[in-house]
Amino acid sequence: MTKFFPFWWENQPNYSESNGLTKNTDVVVVGAGFTGLSAAITLAKSGVSVVVFDSEELGNGASTRNGGMLGSGHKVSPQQAEEKYGLDVAGQIHKEANASLAFTTNLIKENNIDCDLQICGRLRASWIPQDQFSMSENLKKLKTIDDFNSRMIDSSKMSESINTDLYFGGQYYEDHGSVQPRKFHYGLHQLAINSGAKVFGNMPVKQITQLSADEGAGFIVSVANEFISCKDVLIATNGYTRSSLSKYLSRRILPVPSFIITTDEIGAERVNSLIPGGHCIVETRKRYCYYRPTPCGKRIMIGTRAAMHSMSAEKALPVLKKTLSEIFPELDGVNISHCWTGFTGFSFSMLPNLGCHDGIYSAMGYCGNGVAMAPYLGHMAALKILEPDKKVTVFEGTSLQTRPYYYGFPWFLPIVSVYFNVYDKFDNYRRRKNL
Ligand SMILES: Cc1cc2nc3c(=O)[nH]c(=O)nc-3n(C[C@H](O)[C@H](O)[C@H](O)COP(=O)(O)OP(=O)(O)OC[C@H]3O[C@@H](n4cnc5c(N)ncnc54)[C@H](O)[C@@H]3O)c2cc1C
Repeated sequence: MTKFFPFWWENQPNYSESNGLTKNTDVVVVGAGFTGLSAAITLAKSGVSVVVFDSEELGNGASTRNGGMLGSGHKVSPQQAEEKYGLDVAGQIHKEANASLAFTTNLIKENNIDCDLQICGRLRASWIPQDQFSMSENLKKLKTIDDFNSRMIDSSKMSESINTDLYFGGQYYEDHGSVQPRKFHYGLHQLAINSGAKVFGNMPVKQITQLSADEGAGFIVSVANEFISCKDVLIATNGYTRSSLSKYLSRRILPVPSFIITTDEIGAERVNSLIPGGHCIVETRKRYCYYRPTPCGKRIMIGTRAAMHSMSAEKALPVLKKTLSEIFPELDGVNISHCWTGFTGFSFSMLPNLGCHDGIYSAMGYCGNGVAMAPYLGHMAALKILEPDKKVTVFEGTSLQTRPYYYGFPWFLPIVSVYFNVYDKFDNYRRRKNL
């Protein structure tokens, strides 16, 4: 029987509850995912009093639902970034992708966070030959910007990494890794508490009111049935940002669902025969398919955008099963132990953003790449709160845009789903032509 909650949640310890909610604090953080907890750690370690609120039970957002693929990289190519932001900023955008991976890997190592960290590398597999060419051009460009520890893999060498003949080669990222995300989140939560932050679950923030238009006047935060006064507020709600909290942000962040399944235990030998490289694998296909062995090495986890719009995990299950057997035909019919979904947060610029609107800070817009970037940007948001006049990251300049007729309910995502399905069919046609 398939369970419809994350595999990562099985047999995990409960989060310890903070107590003694104070009526005054320096900073209120809204959202206790990777972003919010990382910000809280940096703030608390700097001697600032900080309270983090989450509307749900702790560990319910994307931070414990993701694929645990720890990597760098943006949805925007160096070329696209250069056209929009100019050469220098484009370079910085890609350097900070690398910096986010180094930051989060160090955060785990320095604090001995027990989260099954493996520097297993990541393979980006080409669905069509044109993808192999454009990745190779991108890589040449990236290597002029920073020391990117990545190389192209020829199609004849793919069998060293994966036992399927679906792909036309790939790009291998040496320094990328994987974590068990629920364990990583739990470790960050403990670190935040031990640093002096208070973290509360089941406390939805309803309203944030600026005390006066004067800079530094502070805020009153209405949370559950309490009112807390504070100097600064950071909103760290990413794909779970609703217009009831912030009309401004909900018009600028699209909640795009992703869906994951894990197989029953099929044995380490079988997993190893299918993914001999042991890497995390992502495809270049528009539907964005990603898979990896679980930390025990006995199961395969595979995720994809079964649809761009929200649907239940139960409904997405057949699509995920079909994708799994398309990649590994011998897994057709294998039992699926878990199937779940969660929301990523997409910005219209396709880049993360650290912003400040009406005096309220926000850090979000990871576009599905948040395991390394969210803790990094949370940390950067904390540095910004500590030193508001200093520019701390290039993502202060990747402004959040909105679109006409978008008021926080992504009515057009079903249409985008259809577009992606058609695009997939077109890609499949281009594949067949090359086979
Ligand atoms: C299925 C899936 C797979 C993914 N796989 C990967 C991957 O393999 N690699 C990768 O790099 N990234 C991946 N991601 C993306 C990554 O998980 C996210 O970018 C990252 O976790 C974002 O962290 P966050 O703290 O900003 O947001 P979240 O972890 O989503 O936390 C936001 C929190 O805000 C809370 N909240 C919302 N409104 C309120 C309110 N009014 N009051 C209080 N709290 C509120 C929510 O309850 C939630 O807990 C994946 C995402 C999903 C959904």
